[in-house]
Amino acid sequence: MQIERTFTGITALGPGNRMAVWVNGCPRNCPGCISPTLRREAPENECDVPEYFSAFAYDDIDGVSISGGEPFYQAAELLSLVSFLRDKGIRDILVYTGYTLEELTAMRDPTVDAILGMIAVLIDGPYIAEQNDDTGNLAGSKNQRIHILDESFRKRYEDYASDKREVQTFNFGSYVLSVGIPTKEYIRNFNENT
Ligand code: SF4
Repeated sequence: MQIERTFTGITALGPGNRMAVWVNGCPRNCPGCISPTLRREAPENECDVPEYFSAFAYDDIDGVSISGGEPFYQAAELLSLVSFLRDKGIRDILVYTGYTLEELTAMRDPTVDAILGMIAVLIDGPYIAEQNDDTGNLAGSKNQRIHILDESFRKRYEDYASDKREVQTFNFGSYVLSVGIPTKEYIRNFNENT
């Protein structure tokens, strides 16, 4: 799987203490895409899913959020990752996708269907800058929908969704990485100062 980065200790992309995974590659070109550097494929980041994710400890991880890029662009590898996480006891798996849920189910792809049957939450649809109204801490624009695919997680996510948007910032010296759903003002300031 082509993976740009994986962080633990993330609280800005779902409830609890989370692992967040960003994959490479997305065939779309949404104006205002918040992750433009992740759109290109990155063969240099290719990794074996079980080997790569065996390096992490899972005891303190409440859930995993997977975004990109487009996670379903690497569907077979995504299924491998979701299966690995469930084997580790992680059921709160949240996947962001630029596809709508209807587009995914219309593919009639057993791999895609298996992923949808194993994850807790899908946040669907491309980011549309004009529809970012600064509300909601899980989706960046109003067209994006939060699908609770495992009902046992509904209350957990409804409680989390009542919180304000949060952005965690990681400073690596040569660059700053922001994690979370930013407000329009945050994006404006970030673009002006980087
Ligand atoms: S689907 Fe997501 S990663 Fe792909 S171009 Fe749109 S906003 Fe960017």
